[in-house]
Amino acid sequence: MIPPKKNVDSRILLQRLKQTLAEQGEAQARLNEIVKLIATSMESEVCSIYLRRTDDVLELYATEGLFTTAVHYSELKLGQGLVGKIAENAEPINTSKVAKTKGFRYLPETGEERFKSFLGVPIQRLGTVLGVLVIQNLTEREYSDDEVYGLEIVAMVLAEMAELGVFTESGNKHKLSQEKKGPFTAIGLIGKEGVALGTVVLLNPEIKITNPVADNPILEKEKLNVALTKLKNELSENISRKHFKQKREFLEILETHKLLIEDKGWLNRMEVSIDNGLSATVAVEKEQTETKARIAKVQNYYFKERLNEFYEISNTLLKILTKQKSKLKLGTITSPILLARNVSPLELISMHEHLKGVILEEGSVGSHATIICRALNIPLVIQAKAIIEKAAHGDRVILDGDQAMINLRPEEEVIQAYTSKLSMRTKAQESFLAIRDLSAVTLDGIKISLMINAGLMADLPSLAKSGAEGVGLYRTELQFLISNTVPKRSEQAQIYSKVLDSAKGLPVFFRTLDVGSDKILPSITPEIEPNPALGWRAIRLSLEKSGVFKMQAQALIRGAHGRDLNIVIPLVAKPTEFDQAKEIILSEIVREKRRKHLVPKSIMVGAMLEVPSLAFASESFFKNADFIMVGGNDLKQFFFAADRENEKVRRRYDVLSTSFLSFLSLICERCNQSKIPLSFCGEDAGKPIEALVLSALGFRTLSMQPDCIGPVKSLLRSVSLSEIKALITGCLEENIETVRLPITKYLEETNIYSAKMANNTA
Ligand code: PEP
Ligand code: MG
Repeated sequence: MIPPKKNVDSRILLQRLKQTLAEQGEAQARLNEIVKLIATSMESEVCSIYLRRTDDVLELYATEGLFTTAVHYSELKLGQGLVGKIAENAEPINTSKVAKTKGFRYLPETGEERFKSFLGVPIQRLGTVLGVLVIQNLTEREYSDDEVYGLEIVAMVLAEMAELGVFTESGNKHKLSQEKKGPFTAIGLIGKEGVALGTVVLLNPEIKITNPVADNPILEKEKLNVALTKLKNELSENISRKHFKQKREFLEILETHKLLIEDKGWLNRMEVSIDNGLSATVAVEKEQTETKARIAKVQNYYFKERLNEFYEISNTLLKILTKQKSKLKLGTITSPILLARNVSPLELISMHEHLKGVILEEGSVGSHATIICRALNIPLVIQAKAIIEKAAHGDRVILDGDQAMINLRPEEEVIQAYTSKLSMRTKAQESFLAIRDLSAVTLDGIKISLMINAGLMADLPSLAKSGAEGVGLYRTELQFLISNTVPKRSEQAQIYSKVLDSAKGLPVFFRTLDVGSDKILPSITPEIEPNPALGWRAIRLSLEKSGVFKMQAQALIRGAHGRDLNIVIPLVAKPTEFDQAKEIILSEIVREKRRKHLVPKSIMVGAMLEVPSLAFASESFFKNADFIMVGGNDLKQFFFAADRENEKVRRRYDVLSTSFLSFLSLICERCNQSKIPLSFCGEDAGKPIEALVLSALGFRTLSMQPDCIGPVKSLLRSVSLSEIKALITGCLEENIETVRLPITKYLEETNIYSAKMANNTA
């Protein structure tokens, strides 16, 4: 809607509202005064305010013109009647024939049958509808655009007041929706398992506005312009910064933001709101509120993203106007748990040291935030719908990443249950610390080498802390993914060199770029594929984009700088893919030597066995590979044809099922025959019982997340592998579907390990 140029009446009304709100008094008396004021000013016989309760019922809180006996008695559910519809759709309803309007529901106790025309607008703030403001007239009349806009402005002020708790009275039977006080539970999707108990930190904390009405529109417009200029300058500064210049994507985003803030319609609407009596801050917020409502309705992904961008810009503008710091200071908060719609890789990386967990309203299993949280072992719940509107900065929260559950403001008993669970984990971790420098040797003397999976510089301190014997899998693509681009050869070489420095002589297995499927790098993987997990990814992509592959090989060689270099090729499905990749790497070594660069002391090139076909490759393949690394996550998904990221199926098949174990035994046998080293590096390697069974099958190297080393080592040191092996053989002979139960039973009966302990420590 095009806003009216100027509405002096609305300004006078807002000033009166401001006076009423400034006066001391009971909430009800204030509300009664407000409806009277609005009715007079809008020349309507009725003005009513319905407020939304936590149970999503709209309760009549005050009225001028309807029977006052209906106050706190009349109620409509969300979506019920015109009031319920306004709240549900966050849109006004304007009608001259109310009784004939679709959805109308007559409330006899109010005496409203006499009133023919109806105008209702949502009382909303930043995507949250807090109530509905209605005016009604005896005569049949359509309200003008000016009147609708004027009423929206008034509703905006009421929303600010509601948010500040001005209408909340302690004696009321029900709680209002903006009273974010009681416990609230939400279920999302698992991003990264783990449990955390802490304090909500909103990435974009809501801005509390104490004075929504302004006396001097000229001054407010000036404030808005100053803030806009500051915003534009900040953007221009960022655009010219060297750091961003190197990152094309960021630059594009910043340029788009610059264009967005020059949008004339947006500026015009904010100025008109100021002319109507709103402060500059609330004028910006009014636009944000409308954008938020549109975001909820738009289906198209592209438009949604643009609107989200618009929303973020207004938010920065609001921060400037209210002089709020844009950087969160987490150091002083106890166990901060970040709550956001989404978070950028850079923001996440900059905060990760303090964060105990992350909750996102959006996000996906393949999003950057998920990749980073998994790499840094930060519990994460994604797709926690509408959680932000229920949470307040500083709320206590339990994030249960194992169940994808969030408990906001939990009851004391729930806190206690989780506290004892966490303290058991801490105790267990302490006991693992005692064995940190001991080897993982079983009672019958078999040594298993435990290594860590890594992929970011931030992971590397865990190598020493966990007592691991090296980096069993270094996922090089993570560095690419968090910056959204392919880093230059020199940058890559620097990273690889630092990784080897931090490993202090322990082995590191660098995996060449494994993008595609869930790991999208726009500059390399722009195509939308029908079946990405089975698509153009990992080595398939590297062989076609051989320039990127060669550059990475050179960077690895230069990073090694005369040290040992181990490279593993992901997702090999047939021997020639591996042969070609190895050939490229070896010829790059020759070339580097010719260029007078120091070449690695030794080079090992191995293959990840993640596709079942490779287990049946010719003997010559096993002879040509320097080692085999089983990528259990992918191998399991292809073996059982069950998407590893699909919650509905990903836990359906047991990695300990005898069918899968027989297959893994075959791989062990083939590697033994060819005398090549074999390791296992999927998530299952970090689960104690799974790790035990893998060791019994013949895997002598397991690579896992750093915090899994302790529990796995502790179990391995207390069992005799030959007994586990005998149990597995028995299950295979008796056609038992999975060895999980027999193994668990054995461990419990021999008091070695209990499933309960596993739940509390894993
Ligand atoms: C795997 O597939 O098991 C693996 C380790 O690789 P990623 O999880 O990175 O695909
Ligand atoms: Mg894989």
